[in-house]
Amino acid sequence: MPSPSAHDPSLEHELMRKAIFALDAGQPRCTDCRRTPLAGERVHVYDDGRVVCELCRPRRSEEPIRCERVHGPERGQTVRPAVRVA
Ligand SMILES: [Zn+2]
Repeated sequence: MPSPSAHDPSLEHELMRKAIFALDAGQPRCTDCRRTPLAGERVHVYDDGRVVCELCRPRRSEEPIRCERVHGPERGQTVRPAVRVA
């Protein structure tokens, strides 16, 4: 039976780079389902730079290094503590 090399390290590396880049751009995308998480949704960031959405998180056994909440485009509407100058 022929076994095509489904595991391509360079592709994996590329995906990782894209995940990191996407996060930097403030637009995280799930590495597993390629979905852009909705504003307010949580994404889980792994050691290797992968970003996984809430839905794909249970399919992974590893623990994420951190969780981030996705910011929507309407950033100005978030409630901010008023800074008062006395
Ligand atoms: Zn996902």
